[in-house]
Amino acid sequence: MVDSRNALDSHPGLDSRNWFAPVPTSRRRQFMASQRDGVFITLNGQRLINFSSNDYLALSTHPKLCDAAKTALADGVGSGASRLVCGDDPALHHLEKRLADWKGYEACLIVGSGMLANLGLIQALANRHSPVFADKLNHASLVDGVRLSTAPSHRFQHLDTGQLEQLLQQHQADKRIIVSDGVFSMDGDCADVNALLQLAIDHNTLLLIDDAHGIGTVGADGRGLTSQAGIAGHHRLIEVGTFGKSFGSYGAFILASEPCIEALRQRQRSMIYSTALPLAIIAAADAGLDLIQHGEALSRLHANIAYFKMKISTLNFMPSHTAIQPLLLGSDDKAMAMSSALREAGFFVPAIRPPTVAAGTARLRFTLSAAHSTAQIDLLAEKLLHCLAHA
Ligand SMILES: *Cc1c(COP(=O)(O)O)cnc(C)c1O
Repeated sequence: MVDSRNALDSHPGLDSRNWFAPVPTSRRRQFMASQRDGVFITLNGQRLINFSSNDYLALSTHPKLCDAAKTALADGVGSGASRLVCGDDPALHHLEKRLADWKGYEACLIVGSGMLANLGLIQALANRHSPVFADKLNHASLVDGVRLSTAPSHRFQHLDTGQLEQLLQQHQADKRIIVSDGVFSMDGDCADVNALLQLAIDHNTLLLIDDAHGIGTVGADGRGLTSQAGIAGHHRLIEVGTFGKSFGSYGAFILASEPCIEALRQRQRSMIYSTALPLAIIAAADAGLDLIQHGEALSRLHANIAYFKMKISTLNFMPSHTAIQPLLLGSDDKAMAMSSALREAGFFVPAIRPPTVAAGTARLRFTLSAAHSTAQIDLLAEKLLHCLAHA
């Protein structure tokens, strides 16, 4: 069938085989079939200790999450339709209320994923008359959300609130939004959310913080950066969190004032025109919140971060107090070589290269989990020092 169709098309020219320019080998992203079991990952038959996952609290394989999902699965798998049609199960509203109360916001809206949250949220909030002021290292989903909204975009150097203030003075408009990651996904450092909120107040703008990596990991109670800073629930602040990282499940949520969340229910196209999350996933996220609040996994994560930082204190790691600990190597080749050397030694630590990060800032991105043992961290530090000495 396929062959005969190709045979009928005798016209040379563009088709799906030659449409795309080849990606240079040095930039090629590799998709490798891999299997996770707990803190291990098996790649090409080799079982490695995984230092690359965002499953910071090791909840994605926790029996309580698995049981919650299985129980929900007994009644069905798919949600059948968008929330606006018939996919709006009470379990979604129950979890939204829990999240809003936990974080100290009036209201919450659960959506399909962090990517969908940011695409749809910024599209709903902004238009060509409402400029957005964005940190240059914001997550791709925020960048694309701004594009989709058609809002004029003014980007400031990473964490540079001085430059942000200048841009706010230069580009006036009735409605403006400052947009930033909370914990930055590739650097592990944190936005100064107090300074950002002060600028939002002084210059009469909204502030959108995406704390996908912070909620569940930051602060003694895991409520994330804005809660630690004492600003969660402020009416100028809208916050995004995800279930795919610390919560051990999948999906995302938006926190804001009640009128804002109600407006999003009316306008957020990435929620309205997309099938609601399966209930098993929601049940798992709900169980994940229980375990975050319980605090045991969180204190193990914090102990592991402190222990790791102590072990690698003499190395050129980027400044980070979070579970994301990048080692700056500079050249793509060096980062690739170190990643391979660590793999030989039994560890999976991915090299992060351009275009994910700026040219010349290739790095190894280590992420810590509550499930790592001190013995595993000891061994990693030992092998890392050895690999660096022989590079
Ligand atoms: C992971 C991440 C997202 C995307 O969330 P998904 O649920 O994986 O789509 C959005 N923003 C930030 C900052 C992230 O790190």
